[in-house]
Amino acid sequence: MEFISIKQAMEKGTGQVNIRGWCYRVRNSNKMAFIVLRDSTDIIQCVVEKSKVSEELWNEALKATMECSLEITGEIKKDDRAPTGYEISVSSLKIVGESDSFPITKDQSPEFLLDKRHLWLRSRKMTSILKVRSSVFQAIRKFFNDKGFYEEHSPMFSPTSCEGGSTLFEVKYFDDIMYLTQSWQLYAEAMISALEKIYTISPCFRAEKSKTSRHLSEFWMAETEVAWYNLDDILKNAEDLVAFIVKYVVEHNEEELKFLGQNIEKLKKIKTPFPRITYTKALEILKKDGIKVEWGKDLRTIEEDAIVKHYEKPVIITNYPKKIMAFYKPKDPENPKTALCFDMIAPEGYGEIIGGSERDTDIEEMKKALIAQGEKPEKYEWYFDTRRYGKVPHSGYGLGVERVIAWLCNLDNIKDTIPFPRTMIRRTP
Ligand code: ATP
Ligand code: MG
Repeated sequence: MEFISIKQAMEKGTGQVNIRGWCYRVRNSNKMAFIVLRDSTDIIQCVVEKSKVSEELWNEALKATMECSLEITGEIKKDDRAPTGYEISVSSLKIVGESDSFPITKDQSPEFLLDKRHLWLRSRKMTSILKVRSSVFQAIRKFFNDKGFYEEHSPMFSPTSCEGGSTLFEVKYFDDIMYLTQSWQLYAEAMISALEKIYTISPCFRAEKSKTSRHLSEFWMAETEVAWYNLDDILKNAEDLVAFIVKYVVEHNEEELKFLGQNIEKLKKIKTPFPRITYTKALEILKKDGIKVEWGKDLRTIEEDAIVKHYEKPVIITNYPKKIMAFYKPKDPENPKTALCFDMIAPEGYGEIIGGSERDTDIEEMKKALIAQGEKPEKYEWYFDTRRYGKVPHSGYGLGVERVIAWLCNLDNIKDTIPFPRTMIRRTP
């Protein structure tokens, strides 16, 4: 027997169809059984009329319970009273897998739904988000592939830190200790001398000790590294990527965005160029809002949120204080107290979605910065080789995929952007 999806069945609109899926809802009277069937594409109401079917079929229909899996054959027709505008009059029905009493009912707490995540994934909310997630990955790949970038990969086991020691996960590696990767960057910088324009989409691991709605301990980062690019070039690439992802998702996921309560017209306005301000200018904006930040202190979440309130698009903040930046971010020759770096902050309080910079090519400067951070420069000798043998100016950035999904899907917690979230306190299922 050949099966089609519920969506294809509704597109066909008339005649006999074979479909299969899971029981989304079921309601019986002594004459009729209404089974709403769900598959990955949609839901549809299926009706079994006792007077029109064999006793065997009627008895099988009565066995259907929420979330059992089923194969159904019947006549499809338009019906405005049905939940999705079509109804199937069932002529054959087979329960493939029975379902015990399903533990998820209405109005359950977010924690309960996280405990039952393996089942809650079937909800329309999670299904919609995961479809958007898939589109975001597709969009990133398309953006870079169309520009002739190579997709490459770095090891997940790393002997050193990239973003500072405080969020490193240690793992036992045979008789030694290694760390789970925080970013591909140091390896990417070695690869550009071969391939020039590269990107990756990869898991990253950070032992985030604070409980925020924006941090996972395992998340996915889209990173790029480009030879010969300066800060301006990489900024242009970063804003083009974000605008491209938004457009791609609006074009491919209108239905899901609507279901999630997102305002599509608002997303359509996310076009380049994005506003750009320096860190120093950001402090002036904050000061006018009555928020005092001492020059040299990093911007915290509340401060980032206060700045983006002034804009409808993502905001790019450049030239953070050199002193508080990772060791590879070079000083700006025109303003040496600051670094040639940027963050991109999403609208509406979704936080930093990109962090990027030019990369320092001065080995001595980097050694000094590493020592200041309590690191051992000897461990980075192989990395310094990239500067010893034909160094070129280059730049790159990392985009937090889940932060972007949270923003596009209008979610209040990053945990819902990934099928099985990992945080300091959430490690199951
Ligand atoms: P934050 O200040 O929000 O912790 P960061 O400065 O540590 O971010 P980067 O090191 O610049 O972040 O990483 C690049 C991008 O990866 C960030 O802009 C963000 O979008 C994303 N990101 C960083 N840490 C996390 C995390 N723990 N969970 C999800 N996304 C993250
Ligand atoms: Mg961080």
